[in-house]
Parts: sequence; C-alpha cells; structure tokens
Amino acid sequence: MNIHEYQGKQILKQYGVAVPEGHVAFSPEEAVKAAKELGTDVVVVKAQIHAGGRGKAGGVKLAKNLDEVRTYSKELLGKVLVTHQTGPEGKEVKRLYIEAGSDIQKEYYLGLVLDRETSRVTLMGSEEGGMDIEEVAANNPERLFYEEIDPIIGLTGFQARRMAFNINIPAKLVNKAAKLMLGLYQAYVDTDAAIVEINPLVVTGDGQVVALDAKFNFDANSLYRHPHVMEMRDYDEEDAKEIEASKYDLSYISLDGNIGCMVNGAGLAMATMDTINYYGGSPANFLDVGGGATAEKVTEAFKIILSDQNVKGIFVNIFGGIMKCDIIAEGVIQAAKEVSLSVPLVVRLEGTNVELGKKLLNESGLDIVAAGTMAEGAKKIVELVG
Ligand code: ADP
Ligand code: MG
Repeated sequence: MNIHEYQGKQILKQYGVAVPEGHVAFSPEEAVKAAKELGTDVVVVKAQIHAGGRGKAGGVKLAKNLDEVRTYSKELLGKVLVTHQTGPEGKEVKRLYIEAGSDIQKEYYLGLVLDRETSRVTLMGSEEGGMDIEEVAANNPERLFYEEIDPIIGLTGFQARRMAFNINIPAKLVNKAAKLMLGLYQAYVDTDAAIVEINPLVVTGDGQVVALDAKFNFDANSLYRHPHVMEMRDYDEEDAKEIEASKYDLSYISLDGNIGCMVNGAGLAMATMDTINYYGGSPANFLDVGGGATAEKVTEAFKIILSDQNVKGIFVNIFGGIMKCDIIAEGVIQAAKEVSLSVPLVVRLEGTNVELGKKLLNESGLDIVAAGTMAEGAKKIVELVG
C-alpha cells in the first residue's frame, strides 16, 4: 500500500527526520489559508498523487505570493497529471500539499529497500538526487552507494556516516545527515515499510539536511498491526476493481491485457497467464478465487472481471480439488445472467464434481466454449478474442 507524500512526511517527522512545514489542502481556499499560515516568501504547491515524477509533469509549482498559490491550486486540482509513473491514463489530482519553499543548495537521493539477494534491508544513497534513480543505476552505477543492514544490530551510526561521506554531504553536515538516516531506518522498520524513498534529500542554504520528498510503500500483509498507517489509505488512488475484490477476499490484480482470467490457486493462475501469453494473448488480470470459494464469491469475481472495459473474453480455468466444479459452474451461470455476458467464454473444468459442473454449464443455455486442457482453453480464448 502506498500513501501520499504529505502523509509520509508526517511519519518522518515523528522520527526526527527534518521536513519542511506544510499543510494539506483540498481546495484553492484551503491552499491559500495554508500558505498564509506558513508565511514564507515562497511556498510550493505540490500535487498529491500516488506517483512520482510530478515535478517534470508540472505537478510541483513554486508560488511567490498568495495570488500565485490560488492560481496554481485551481490549475492543479481536478487536473489529470500524467507522469512517467502514472501510465498514459494519468491520475486526477484531488489533494495538494502546500509546503514552505526550501533554499536548495544540492539534491541527493536516499532509499531503503529490502534486497532480495541478501534478504536484508539496504540503505541506498547517491549524489544524483532529484533524478530517476533507475537511470542512475543503469548509466552511472558507480554513483550509487549501498549499506547492507544487519537486522539484529540495525543501521549503525558508522554506516550512516560512511553513506553521508560517500554521497559527498558537506563535512560539517555529515552528522545531521547520519541522524536523519537513522530516523529513516527506524521509521522503515517500525511501520513494516517495503520501500522508503527520499528523492530529493536536500542540503539547504542555512545548513539543514531536509527530506523534500517522501515515498512510502508498506507491506500489505502487516497493515493489520498499523491502524495509523491504514488510516492513511486513499481509496481514490487505488484500482476500483482491486478494492472490490478485496471485499470478497479475492486475490485479484488488475493488468492491462484483454483476456479475463478466473482461476483457483495462485500457481495455476500464474500458469494460466503464462499459457495465454504463450499463445499470443494478454491477460487482463490475475485472479485466484481460492480453495473454498462459494457460488456468491465466484459471481462477484466474474462481475469484477467484466467491469473491466478492456476485457474481450474470459477464460475460466479450474482444477476442483477443495473447490468443487459445480460451485464454479453455478457462480459462472449466476454472474453471466446478472451481467448479460456479451464476450466469449472458454471454460476448462477438471477435478471434483467435474461432470456435474459440465452438465450445469451445458444446460444453462450460455454460449460457452468447453476446453479439455489448459493449453486448449488458452489457445481457444486467444483465437476468439482475435
Ligand atoms: P516528484 O519526485 O514527484 O517530481 P518532488 O517532491 O521530488 O516530486 O519535487 C520535485 C522537485 O521540486 C524537487 O526535486 C525539488 O527540486 C522541487 N521541490 C519540491 N519540494 C520543494 C520545496 N518544499 N521547496 C523547494 N523546492 C521543492
Ligand atoms: Mg521526488
């Protein structure tokens, strides 16, 4: 789960990480009020969306007076911002962060991620701040520094200072930067974050080391023990289909292809997607309806798949082990009736109660293409979708 920049900064503040003063605003009036309260010569009007690259896309504006704050706020609120991280459809701006302008001397990069190779949290840093870190990693890997963190000891002062020296933080600010890194690490661990990124970290004219941007991503499996983080969830920023699926405890991930997939078991779901790809098609989603799904759950899953405008065909691939084939059939029939199915449907059933399931489907009057194997089913749906 992601949160907004301003929320990330609220967390950072609790860990002693310096961030500029700021207020969230939902309207131009609130933005102007926030700017008045800040009372600084320059305020920054920042679009709050769950995506980076806002600066380059015109989502970060420097305002020198209240009129400019109003103008930029009006311009940004309701605007669909397209950045290199939003995809071509962009994201609508519904919140702004009004922040005191910083006197930036230099921008740096800091990130904390879990390194899957070492199974350890790793602090990453670079002198190349404010840029795409992926680009730095690809073109100037020698300018990226890493500190692998021992989970028992945590990030040590020594490591933090070494990082500060490596990325050329001015010598007299090294201790400040190191303290910030320790706070950052503590925030990462305490909130069960998966990624924390400060891009840019800045050194200011008056000798402060400040986090000017904040990106947090949390491990969704641990959210239950962080109610204060859960409260920061912004459903507007998430895929409506995924939210709907989570209500029914369905493991659903929206993708950009056009073949809807309804499968039981995560492994079979992955294999189904691979097989569709193999035959030249492209899946519209990952969906594991689980082992103990009811007909109602299957109906909801089917509806969610069909609510995706891109879906031009559906492939149901079920191995009935714990899940019974007749339950799946009932759910499919129920859903197809409720939503008046208008796209091709290929069904491959195998396992418990398979004959009963097939019988139900045959007698349903639905236009269903039966498939004997996963490969046959994938091939058929790809052909039908064209
Ligand atoms: P994004 O990463 O989405 O582009 P950032 O928060 O990193 O958004 O802002 C982009 C750039 O805008 C920063 O690299 C910095 O140069 C400038 N900026 C952001 N916040 C401030 C601020 N409070 N004061 C001055 N400049 C800022
Ligand atoms: Mg940034």
